[in-house]
Amino acid sequence: MHPSQELLQKLSELLPSDAFLPDEVLAPHTTFRIGGPCVAMVLPHDVETVVKVLKLLRETETPYFVMGGGSNLLVADRGYDGIVIKTSRLNQLIIDGTKLTAGAGNPLGRVAVAAARASLSGLEYAHGIPGTVGGGVCMNAGAYGGEMSQVVVESRYATADGEVRTLSAGEHNFAYRDSFFLQNRDCILLDTTFALAPGDSESSFERMRELWERRKSTQPLEYPSAGSMFKRPPGYYAGKLIDDCGLRGLAVGGAMVSTKHANFIINTGNATADDVIRLIEKVREAVLARFGVEMHCEVRRLGF
Ligand SMILES: Cc1cc2nc3c(=O)[nH]c(=O)nc-3n(C[C@H](O)[C@H](O)[C@H](O)COP(=O)(O)OP(=O)(O)OC[C@H]3O[C@@H](n4cnc5c(N)ncnc54)[C@H](O)[C@@H]3O)c2cc1C
Repeated sequence: MHPSQELLQKLSELLPSDAFLPDEVLAPHTTFRIGGPCVAMVLPHDVETVVKVLKLLRETETPYFVMGGGSNLLVADRGYDGIVIKTSRLNQLIIDGTKLTAGAGNPLGRVAVAAARASLSGLEYAHGIPGTVGGGVCMNAGAYGGEMSQVVVESRYATADGEVRTLSAGEHNFAYRDSFFLQNRDCILLDTTFALAPGDSESSFERMRELWERRKSTQPLEYPSAGSMFKRPPGYYAGKLIDDCGLRGLAVGGAMVSTKHANFIINTGNATADDVIRLIEKVREAVLARFGVEMHCEVRRLGF
């Protein structure tokens, strides 16, 4: 149901004024810099507030979407007819021995640095991924041989009814770019505990610097994007398939297949979500026609 004025009034009373943003345009909240407004964005700062917001939304059957860093998202030009719950204020971080517990809204880079400072190893790979703990666990984010599934031991989450529950490592149902949270989209991850290994601080920072250099030399980080657009089809690399079709530099409006990394679609300045969608379709059709391989998007969509 479209959010009612009464609901918006209740949300505004529940949250501090800077944590309730009506008609918020979503483009600046995404790394793609694309997307229209939502009805309202809310930024809860603790678990109790998340629970209260969820109960209000459930009572009124209002649609909502959980956003972390917006680094794996394509938002429609017309925006989203619901409430966006942004997790950036759920940012507590606690280290206890070799366990690190981080609120869902912590950027992965911050968590990796905190672990390295405490001489804990296991999250170096995640340092350059521009998402949050919540988005990383939800997507089972991975790079350079590391993956969330290797280090997550437990998460706390809230159900759509506002009940807070705990998920053990196995219950996350981790698979390639998939998890419990993609399978249960109305649940909100609140925090996650990582089991890390005793390590050497300087070696961890050295590894993060080395991986950052590799990213910079292979990815078009100078342009807005949502990272890899397509998942790896079994037995292939999406970037190589796109490259072998000669599609580097192919553009629709302001959206372009990166000339640096063919699995990145970049926003060259004024791309619309429609440009991106049309370019995705062209790429998928070309790869299917040439190689008979069906490609699926890794990037999530909102508002379509
Ligand atoms: C330049 C660049 C490089 C990238 N490199 C990598 C890489 O190396 N490896 C990789 O795996 N990805 C990479 N990505 C993609 C992206 O950063 C990851 O998928 C990241 O984990 C997304 O996190 P986020 O917080 O931005 O999630 P969002 O984009 O905000 O959301 C993604 C999904 O997670 C859900 N979600 C977010 N927070 C929560 C929560 N608290 N509870 C429940 N669901 C939640 C959302 O609803 C959505 O379905 C890259 C992206 C960019 C732009």
